[in-house]
Amino acid sequence: MTVKDIEQITIVGCGTMGNGIAQVFALTGYKVNLVDIKQEFLDKAVATISKSIDRFVKKEKVTEEQKKEAMANIGTSTDLGVAKGSQLVIEAVTEDLNIKLDIFRKLEEICPADTVFASNTSSLPITKLASATARADKFIGMHFMNPVPMMKLVELIRGIATSDETTELIKQLSEALGKTPVEVNDYPGFVANRILMPMINEAAFALMEGVATVEAIDEVMKLGAAHPMGPLTLADFIGLDVCQAILEVMHDGLGDPKYRPCPLLKKMVQAGYLGRKSGRGFYSYE
Ligand code: NAD
Repeated sequence: MTVKDIEQITIVGCGTMGNGIAQVFALTGYKVNLVDIKQEFLDKAVATISKSIDRFVKKEKVTEEQKKEAMANIGTSTDLGVAKGSQLVIEAVTEDLNIKLDIFRKLEEICPADTVFASNTSSLPITKLASATARADKFIGMHFMNPVPMMKLVELIRGIATSDETTELIKQLSEALGKTPVEVNDYPGFVANRILMPMINEAAFALMEGVATVEAIDEVMKLGAAHPMGPLTLADFIGLDVCQAILEVMHDGLGDPKYRPCPLLKKMVQAGYLGRKSGRGFYSYE
């Protein structure tokens, strides 16, 4: 299969990442099926996409006509069966190994043998996810960054059996979307989170030990390392529960105590201080 053969994509999961991925494909001219478990989630995702494209229209980066075409490219369904007509399926459901394995087992039954499968997982092993299918050569990690319409990077994760052909195809497709793909191998945390999460974790340790305040830690990294936002602000954006879960995957998968989640981070998650989404994390958003 070449990039020209790809016309229709199915995206499973229409949350934060799924709707962002759908937006980017639809604006590039691809037909997109968005699948989730409830129609109300899908309706909300379509409304989110519409509002997001409006911001690009306001900035004159997208015309009203292009918006109309993009919105017409998006179809929604609660039936995974719609994936049958797609050349590529991207899974972007909740970060839960069993849910993802179940979806890939079903997709294996639904889709023709040449359909390429991709997962947007932040941390789960691509090789393990691929084992739920009989097409490990056509299985790849396609790790978009949040917010998808703004962020250039797509981390392309090769499982143990991902073929050169699949990697090249998804590389070219990512470029067609205006993204910059970077190829990495399948080890816990890949590259982005392997390096980012220990930094966030270390910032939490520094706070726990009283090295500096939340604001001071962020200011030092912004001004001292030229980061656009400090690590604790970033952790609040990502979600402290998500940070903890990724650290646990790395701790478990790499077996090195340096990846153990900071006790303060764990305590905050226990308290429900999950960051922006819960109104409180390292900062208060109430
Ligand atoms: P989210 O919770 O916003 O959305 C997940 C969606 O999956 C929900 O709409 C849910 O209803 C749906 N879902 C759950 N089970 C399903 C099923 N069986 N069939 C169909 N849909 C189902 O999560 P998110 O933040 O969009 O994350 C999705 C994936 O992307 C995860 O693997 C996550 O690790 C990864 N990711 C997240 C980020 C981020 O910053 N949020 C960044 C990169 C990658």
